[in-house]
Amino acid sequence: MSEADILIVGSGPAGCTAAIYAVRAGFKTLVLNGEAHGGQLVRTHELENFPGFILPLSGYEVMEAMHKQCARLGVQFAAETVVKIEEHAKPFVVHCEGGRQITARAVIVASGSAQMWLGLESEKQFFGRGVSTCATCDGFFYRGKTVCVVGGGNKAFEEALFLTKFCDKVYIVHRRDAFRADKAEVDKARANPKIEFMINSVVHAINGDDKGVSSITVRDINDKSLREIALSGVFVSIGTTPQTDFLKGSSVKLTARGHVLVDAKNHTAVPGIFAAGDCADEYHNQAVIAAGAGAKAAIEAVKYLNERPGGAKQP
Ligand SMILES: Cc1cc2nc3c(=O)[nH]c(=O)nc-3n(C[C@H](O)[C@H](O)[C@H](O)COP(=O)(O)OP(=O)(O)OC[C@H]3O[C@@H](n4cnc5c(N)ncnc54)[C@H](O)[C@@H]3O)c2cc1C
Repeated sequence: MSEADILIVGSGPAGCTAAIYAVRAGFKTLVLNGEAHGGQLVRTHELENFPGFILPLSGYEVMEAMHKQCARLGVQFAAETVVKIEEHAKPFVVHCEGGRQITARAVIVASGSAQMWLGLESEKQFFGRGVSTCATCDGFFYRGKTVCVVGGGNKAFEEALFLTKFCDKVYIVHRRDAFRADKAEVDKARANPKIEFMINSVVHAINGDDKGVSSITVRDINDKSLREIALSGVFVSIGTTPQTDFLKGSSVKLTARGHVLVDAKNHTAVPGIFAAGDCADEYHNQAVIAAGAGAKAAIEAVKYLNERPGGAKQP
């Protein structure tokens, strides 16, 4: 069985920042990546609101720098997905997909969040063949085509604006007539001649054949009328859900939406288990906030270990 002093679940901004603080306090620090090394930020083509960079960088560049910083400091990474934490064991036993078990004296959960889906059968059918959740990853394939982005938050607007670089036309389909996105993003989209808004509308069906998506059917939520729009790509951007399934049934308490319940110091209901970032924050899903929370969680984890009998800092 492998061992860590502080085991961190997730290698996004929260996990990496926690790792920097944990390893610099002298603890053997192991970060488990899960399926998305670098987390959600690697999907951002232009990160302009992370302090310290004069010009925008891609999310990938920022996360690569964080990973290199972690590695230089001695943080270890492993491509493992956590399926369960034995929270009553001391040290904790972290179970990974595939059967690997790792003991840890403290755990920081920084497992972020994942894309929410529309819930249409056709969405699964056409995923990767016209349905995408990442304009940065897939936008290039839609050069000269018509696509839609479904959603009304900042991410949806960012995706739509990015897609105008490749596509001839981008519809923004949104169920209400008001947007959660910042006014600045909405104004940019309104000023872009390639973007057309379909408000008070939901995607009723995604249509196509073996070759991929050919149209969507949109339902007007007021008069219930249906309208078919010819297009080649559907980018779903309707929000995220916390990746905390591996904690269900444990003593770590979750909110009704599945976020880890933490106190002001990022402690969970289980002493020695901390949480930070999007998985524990229902309201502010931003990289700098996740990074700050990761730092807080690690400071608390270090304090927890240093205060425990036999838990003093490693030499
Ligand atoms: C398209 C897009 C654009 C964005 N643009 C911006 C922006 O411009 N500015 C900004 O500040 N924020 C932006 N964000 C939001 C930002 O990316 C997130 O707030 C931030 O990444 C959250 O960091 P995190 O570390 O909490 O979680 P995440 O980045 O989600 O990382 C979670 C990590 O946990 C891992 N994980 C999950 N489950 C497990 C498991 N069971 N076992 C092991 N590992 C697991 C994942 O693989 C991943 O490595 C954007 C997000 C998206 C999707």
